[in-house]
Amino acid sequence: MPLIEVRELTKTYRVDGTAVPVLKGIGLSIEEGEFVAIVGRSGSGKSTLLQILGLLDRPSSGRYLLAGRDTAALDDEETAFLRSRTIGFVFQMFNLLARTSALENVALPMVYAGRPDRLERSRELLGLVGLSDRLDHAPSQLSGGQQQRVAIARALANAPRIIFADEPTGNLATEQADEIMRQLEALNARGLTVIVVTHDPEIAAHAGRVLHIKDGLLEKDVMSAGRRAPAPVAREAPPVQIARPPFSLAAFAEYARSALRATAANKTRSFLSILGILIGVGAVIAMLAIGRGAQKAMEARIRSLGSNLIIVYATAGSAGPHGFQPITWGDVRALSKLPHVTAVDPNSNGQVRVVYGNKNADTSVDGVTPAYPAMHDAHPYYGRFFTEAENLRMARVALLGQTVVNELFGHADPLGKTITLNRIGFKVIGIMPAKGASGFRDQDDVIIVPLMTALRRVLGQTYPFMVYVQCDDESAVSGVTAAVHALWQRRHHILPQQGDNLVVRDLTSIKELLSGTSKTMTLLLGIVAAISLLVGGIGIMNIMLVSVSERTREIGLRKAIGASRRAVLLQFLIESTILSFLGGLAGIALGWSVAFGMSHFAGWAAIVSPESVMLAFGFSVGVGILFGFWPARKASLLSPIEALRYE
Ligand code: ADP
Ligand code: MG
Repeated sequence: MPLIEVRELTKTYRVDGTAVPVLKGIGLSIEEGEFVAIVGRSGSGKSTLLQILGLLDRPSSGRYLLAGRDTAALDDEETAFLRSRTIGFVFQMFNLLARTSALENVALPMVYAGRPDRLERSRELLGLVGLSDRLDHAPSQLSGGQQQRVAIARALANAPRIIFADEPTGNLATEQADEIMRQLEALNARGLTVIVVTHDPEIAAHAGRVLHIKDGLLEKDVMSAGRRAPAPVAREAPPVQIARPPFSLAAFAEYARSALRATAANKTRSFLSILGILIGVGAVIAMLAIGRGAQKAMEARIRSLGSNLIIVYATAGSAGPHGFQPITWGDVRALSKLPHVTAVDPNSNGQVRVVYGNKNADTSVDGVTPAYPAMHDAHPYYGRFFTEAENLRMARVALLGQTVVNELFGHADPLGKTITLNRIGFKVIGIMPAKGASGFRDQDDVIIVPLMTALRRVLGQTYPFMVYVQCDDESAVSGVTAAVHALWQRRHHILPQQGDNLVVRDLTSIKELLSGTSKTMTLLLGIVAAISLLVGGIGIMNIMLVSVSERTREIGLRKAIGASRRAVLLQFLIESTILSFLGGLAGIALGWSVAFGMSHFAGWAAIVSPESVMLAFGFSVGVGILFGFWPARKASLLSPIEALRYE
């Protein structure tokens, strides 16, 4: 069985709709171990024929059997396998990977073939072509002849059965050309089949058989007089049957290395392409940190309000059969005696005009009892609170909130000064700690006075408006709430089914309200994040498309030496993933710094949670894979020879 058998092979190119027939029906067969030269004038179709024989291109019609297998029936993986194991191709233009050492160039086909000992073997092969001292040189640091010798070593990487060489000496000086031909002869002597395209008769003279091509037809098939018999095949010939290479870590590492090389070679462009992801991830992390900080602060404030507190007040609406009934002093006493109740603070408030010297302000006045500071964890930070005795005798003493202090006194010391509330003189005995704003209300714009003073002297009321009830523990809140209702119905003679006019609230309802708000906020953040990551992903896709078209020749080469579609797809996916991975990392650093900058300089709380980091990171890598897929697929579908011809 001949190694290569071709029947009625044609190739017709299409240029702008017109058919250009190049091969017009070629038939030939080549035995294993032959040294064949293909000669003919430029444009006669030699390269076209060699590319079809080398499985880089497909014929338009006719049959091509390689070691008895019909090549038309091969799928992508099988073709890649044959390109990698059975065939070694040497190009006129060398086609080495730029910025890659000779050693790695030679090792590349072994990556696709999944050979573990590829660096050793690569060293060995470079020794064979006399380049032991140039292992780490990149193509740009080698002469033309040396580059072609690297290319020959690469073609030999997986111990192929056939070497195809398309004008391998076309770009070389005579001396170097002779060296290359000697090496091809030596390979042939060791049993390899060598097929060389050339237009140099001197080079054709090296061959035992010369095929003359003219206008796409085989004109002459000349066996040279001193033709050696094909060398016996010394080594165990590699099988032409297909074994799918297993997924290898080495291949993965090679893709990652070449991706990093490509990224590093275009630093500015890579940076610009990850900018979108960087900003997106940074924004998400910073916003989540600030949002979370705000939520924590809010929760802390709620807790400081007292999660074991109940607010009780009577309303006029739906007041049952008896109309509006105020909370009486008897009610307050009864409330204070309920089980699990540790303190009660009846209180009232209203608006007043406060005057000090020539300054005045409108503010609210809170009448409270001495239970207030402990219950609300709001002890005067300057001065003192009033006593129960002062409350009972309606003493005219007041504590000021921060806002009132600022408005009336500026930097002066208010303690001991007399202010007037609705024209009644009060002595300032203390200053309350700052609480900050809650919603639209400034909680520091307040004056605190004894409850009895407020009711009788300022507000003109008889009963407190509401009562804070403190339970011994948060868990007692619901029990006490029920007990308060029962107490109210008993004392005011309301039947349970009549409903009462008492509102009893605890902080759970406020908490629910706030957590609803923070859910909305999280949703909005999520939308912003999604949009920014989408934009970032488009940036990456853009650069990947540029990268694919820029590296079309590289892709063609990789496929020519045995990369399957899957391998190319994987390589470009890894590349886009690395880009978005780097973008994600930088984004996390950015978001982190912004969050901490804000909490440091603006005094905002910011908490970077590990989940938000993981989330942003996972998303950015996902974006890389998602948006890298299209360019990667585009690259993987390129035909090797078209990609190699790409300019
Ligand atoms: P050579 O014998 O010099 O190697 P080629 O096989 O490269 O010749 O080309 C043979 C003919 O086919 C030339 O006339 C060339 O113009 C044409 N040809 C080669 N490649 C293409 C292509 N991709 N599209 C259209 N025509 C092509
Ligand atoms: Mg040619």
